[in-house]
Amino acid sequence: MTTAVPVPFLDVGATYRELHAEIDQAVADVLHSGRYIRGPQVEAFEQEWADYCGARYCVGVGNGLDALHLSLAAFNIGAGDEVIVPSNTFIATWLAVSRTGASPVPVEPDPRTFNIDPARIGDAITERTKAIMPVHLYGQPADLPGCYKHGLPVIADGAQAHGARLRGLPVGRGETTAWSFYPCKNLGCFGDGGAVTTNSPEIARRVRALANYGSEFRDHHDEQGINSRLDEIQAAVLRVTLPHLARWNERRTEIAERYLCTLAGTVTVPVVRSWVQPAWHLFVIRTAQRDALQEYLAERGIETLVHYPIPPHRQDAYIRMHGRNLPIAEHLAREVLSLPIGPHMSDREVDAVIDGVNSL
Ligand SMILES: *Cc1c(COP(=O)(O)O)cnc(C)c1O
Repeated sequence: MTTAVPVPFLDVGATYRELHAEIDQAVADVLHSGRYIRGPQVEAFEQEWADYCGARYCVGVGNGLDALHLSLAAFNIGAGDEVIVPSNTFIATWLAVSRTGASPVPVEPDPRTFNIDPARIGDAITERTKAIMPVHLYGQPADLPGCYKHGLPVIADGAQAHGARLRGLPVGRGETTAWSFYPCKNLGCFGDGGAVTTNSPEIARRVRALANYGSEFRDHHDEQGINSRLDEIQAAVLRVTLPHLARWNERRTEIAERYLCTLAGTVTVPVVRSWVQPAWHLFVIRTAQRDALQEYLAERGIETLVHYPIPPHRQDAYIRMHGRNLPIAEHLAREVLSLPIGPHMSDREVDAVIDGVNSL
């Protein structure tokens, strides 16, 4: 028996430990500058993140949920409208739609990739459908070409897919995309943060105004906006971490590739489409013995999580949908298990996870 190596699900503090000198300096510079909101750090980061995504515009906002909500609002989506969302996602995707007054209309995923199945979207479209909101879930780009076939605006949830690529090009390059920089994301800050990228000058202008009390020009409020801002300290941190994102994603890919080739005999591993390069935010396996495997790994000091144990339509927040028949989402909720993956995991930790899973 090998000596047990405890493996945390994700060492969130490792980013700071790796880059502390640069981060301390960047934060201190902001504190000394006296500019804490709407200053040069946010402006520079917006340009850098737009460039990274290959998008024309980027607007920094307060968090990922606001980024989703403001994107939808900028497309004039509101009461009486419907937006197609995945049945299998973090609830924020749905909440953003609901907050505009529109209704989320769930579409089931392809269980092999976990992402929305474009072949099922057609049946969910009505005359009220205003947009499709795919999620690049767990870091694997959704089938965007399949989503576009329906002739509706596509607004993407990129909160789990910073740096992921589709046909060699970064996600966020085409459609309006909402991002979160919550600390555990592939590109995270040290608090809340978010952004919207888009190629449309009109969407960028409206997101910026709606996030600033509905004001484009000082003292004039054209719409009932909200207050949702990326702040200078978080932007300064993101400017330090962004140059490391590609390398961190490469390490995630190395780990994912080891899991893919060593675990496939024991559990169901995700299918990766030939035309995508995932950012591997989460490595999610499936097994009918999910609870037993999770408990067994926990006994060996290996921390795992479930994304997500209760699908949005089964949450009390969506109690009116409890009768909805979404068997794939419900089946996945019983079978999925997220294994540790992160850019700072050691080879020994990866080995410990593989040994653990394969020895159940
Ligand atoms: C994290 C996340 C969000 C929300 O981001 P916050 O910054 O926490 O508001 C939205 N969608 C998905 C898929 C996420 O993983």
